[in-house]
Amino acid sequence: CGIIGIVGKEPVSDRLVDGLKRMEYRGYDSAGVCTVHDGQLIRRRAEGKLANLVTVLKADDAAGNVGIAHTRWATHGAPTTSNAHPQATSELALVHNGIIENFKSLREELSARGRSFESETDTEVVAHLVSEQVEAGKSPQEAVQAILPLLRGAFALAIAFRSQPDLLIGARLGSPLVVGYGDGETYLGSDALALAPLTQKIAYLEEGDWVVITRDGAEIYDKDNQPVEREITTSGVSA
Ligand code: GLU
Repeated sequence: CGIIGIVGKEPVSDRLVDGLKRMEYRGYDSAGVCTVHDGQLIRRRAEGKLANLVTVLKADDAAGNVGIAHTRWATHGAPTTSNAHPQATSELALVHNGIIENFKSLREELSARGRSFESETDTEVVAHLVSEQVEAGKSPQEAVQAILPLLRGAFALAIAFRSQPDLLIGARLGSPLVVGYGDGETYLGSDALALAPLTQKIAYLEEGDWVVITRDGAEIYDKDNQPVEREITTSGVSA
């Protein structure tokens, strides 16, 4: 029920968990993080309270200066570790708030093309759709742009790519997502509150927007894939 992403200049795992804590009030049943480090995705997930995720990370931290994190409120699939987000393929990790209403037909099509699934979530189909494009040689931007029109329902998404330690991609339709602008760092979050310790400079994505964030800032596109500017406001939410 909460999303946070950081493209940073310092390690992110503690800061990701801190952001999740700030969204605990929304409710959740499981949580997870994934960082990108040395060409690998490092994923840690746990059922139940964030304390359980913290225990997992204490035993085996997720190194890296770029990553995404999620608190889940299950809609499709029990609140288990394998259904917790990030959902991942060999190429990417993805977190999602909302519901992909046409996931059954998408899942059947993906299965027919030989993809196999590790969870019962609606979310995992989105990870596979993007991954198919990346595996076919598309850039992250091209891959996301190609598959967004296939999705029905409501979503906020954040995606980290195994071979891209310098960017994250976000998208929203029917669920909130904001961009936070830091000093040599850029963030994604479900709300300004989640990002309050990191930055007060926030842009609210509009319906159908998607965004590429890097350490230098954000490139935002509208539902017709046209580059757009979204006003940067000062959140006024204190850390
Ligand atoms: N529909 C997704 C799932 O059940 C996301 C739920 C959420 O918004 O946390 O995994």
